[in-house]
Amino acid sequence: MTSTGHFSVDAIRAQFPILSREVNGHPLAYFDSAASAHKPQAVIDAQARYLAEKHSNIHRGVHSLAQEATEAYEGAREIIRGHIGAASTQEVLFVGGATDGINLVAQTWGRQHLQQGDCMVLTRMEHHSNIVPWQMLAEEKGFRILVVELNADGTLDEDMFQAHLLQGPKLVAFMHVSNALGTVNDVKHWTAKSHEAGAKVLVDGAQAVPHLQVNVQDLGVDFYVFSGHKTYGPTGIGVLYGRQSLLEDMPPWRGGGEMIGSVSFEQGTTYNELPYKFEAGTPHISGGIALGAALQWMGQVGVSALTAHEHALTQHAHARLAEVQGMRFYGTAPCKAGVVSFLVDGVHPYDLGTLLDQLGIAVRTGHHCAEPLMDKWNIPGTVRASFGAYNTLQEVDRLADGVARAVTMLR
Ligand code: PLP
Repeated sequence: MTSTGHFSVDAIRAQFPILSREVNGHPLAYFDSAASAHKPQAVIDAQARYLAEKHSNIHRGVHSLAQEATEAYEGAREIIRGHIGAASTQEVLFVGGATDGINLVAQTWGRQHLQQGDCMVLTRMEHHSNIVPWQMLAEEKGFRILVVELNADGTLDEDMFQAHLLQGPKLVAFMHVSNALGTVNDVKHWTAKSHEAGAKVLVDGAQAVPHLQVNVQDLGVDFYVFSGHKTYGPTGIGVLYGRQSLLEDMPPWRGGGEMIGSVSFEQGTTYNELPYKFEAGTPHISGGIALGAALQWMGQVGVSALTAHEHALTQHAHARLAEVQGMRFYGTAPCKAGVVSFLVDGVHPYDLGTLLDQLGIAVRTGHHCAEPLMDKWNIPGTVRASFGAYNTLQEVDRLADGVARAVTMLR
């Protein structure tokens, strides 16, 4: 197998137990990391070790296991803080995932600040999880949602973005990297422009943290969310970064244990300090610990080496798939990360995906939770190949050969 640059993909692959299995009699070629990435042994071990050796509820106990579990969980929070460059662990909230983080902001900051007559900005490329929570709130509150449209290559229409900012939105919410197209948005630039216009900025980093070095302070964002399971960690856990001054002013969302200072029928309830004010109930302790291990693993691999490896895979995939007659790519932005989306003339994406599966090649077909984007381009969906640290150039060749073969059979 091949290494791209200083990155040894053989050494990486050896750390992912699932890659040794076969699917339909073929070695697994997994091109669905944008939906969920596989886990290296270090992450599996971190979760198992915690469950086998340290499990207890956290924060409340004086006994040794409770203290060890608390240290491991809060240690993971510190790893995450360092990985995304947050100023303080008070700004790093454990949530259920990117979706949960966006809903938290909508139901707290959004509910507090977005009223009738206000507006906010979204983009045409957003995942449903950064559309629906805002639509639900807008329906109730009566504010307007302005949508930035896309250019033909899947980049944002800058003129339209600027025009929307002139309307004085209170919030601009957009994705860092598109899950459907791979477009990398210039978060720093758009955050600065949005702030100049007086808006707060929420960025959906679900597809960015797995591929790029993200520093929330350098980007200047107010809120940033991502999911553990797309970042080589477990499902059911994710992170909401929030600027401390904003989090302090926001009301709590979910009520219960852990998020309180004191509870009284007579005097009412007071709330805990950050980040616990937003973390009601017993959290996903093993998930948080394993997410810390996942980001530590990424740091050891080297995020810039990982970015370069995935860039090489993406370029190679575009070049090889372009050989297939009738190939149409969706998302050809100059700056892309880890996703190739396509359709082949005369072939239904679902049929193509099913035939590829027979060859042990896992791709995703459909609208990728980006129906407004698909509607605008008048397509039912695409075939999406998305890359992770463990993919090889040879697997990309298998994909391209598999697509060519399937297309011949389907036409
Ligand atoms: N945002 C983007 C860009 C995504 O790709 C996804 C999942 O595919 C999400 C948000 C939602 O992530 P989760 O389902 O982990 O909450």
